[in-house]
Amino acid sequence: MGDITVIGIGPGRQGAMTIEAMEALRKADIIVGYRTYTALLREIFLEKRFEESGMRSEEERCRRAVALAQSGLGTAVVSSGDAGIYGMAGLCLAMAEGTGVSVRVIPGVTAASSGAALLGAPLENDFAVISLSDLLIPREEILGRVRAAAESGFVLCLYNPGSHTRREILREACGEILRYRPADTPCGIARSIGRGGEGVEILTLGELRDREADMLMTVFIGNCRTRVLSGKLVTARGYKEEK
Ligand code: SAH
Repeated sequence: MGDITVIGIGPGRQGAMTIEAMEALRKADIIVGYRTYTALLREIFLEKRFEESGMRSEEERCRRAVALAQSGLGTAVVSSGDAGIYGMAGLCLAMAEGTGVSVRVIPGVTAASSGAALLGAPLENDFAVISLSDLLIPREEILGRVRAAAESGFVLCLYNPGSHTRREILREACGEILRYRPADTPCGIARSIGRGGEGVEILTLGELRDREADMLMTVFIGNCRTRVLSGKLVTARGYKEEK
């Protein structure tokens, strides 16, 4: 019997992958994952066996990983960022349940961390991470969480802020937040972190509401302690010196 290692490979570039993740990939007999991520790994592991699939087949990919492990292969399943944050770890654990295949999870640098670092330090105080994808969770539940987090004063970090089929969700989310925060609240966008086209933008909450979002963005929404310092988005922890 083989096993499954679910590996978060970080935002994209090799330097942002942990040494532990790299070692686990090196040891694996086969690497299973979404095409964008396996393409990055093919450049590093030239001799490795790969199996890739398209966007919406996470279940199929996990089922396949379980079968590969049962056939005796050390099977690596890769997710971008951290595999346990909107990744493949939970599904792999659920689908391996009762099959005798053991599953190990190796953490990675999630987009909240890598994006925050590019922008400055927006997550220095309490924050909430919310995915705006309504493929698996009803839209009302998502907007309810955005509202609750905004009312509670959390800095917000939004994953999956939009796509061509979900143009309105970021506008709606900003609408909820604007009930509790002024339109000039500092916000940030980190895009294509660790990949070609990487970039950041600092803008106000009012401007963010009218922005067209896509799947390659992670969005940060400041709170009353967030400021722009020398072009960086910074949330104060509360030290006297930070005033
Ligand atoms: N497991 C991943 C998240 C997958 S959900 C992680 O831990 O980072 C997909 C969303 O994550 C994207 O829509 C985007 O909001 C964010 N994301 C993932 N990788 C990114 C990158 N390289 N640059 C910007 N955002 C990214």
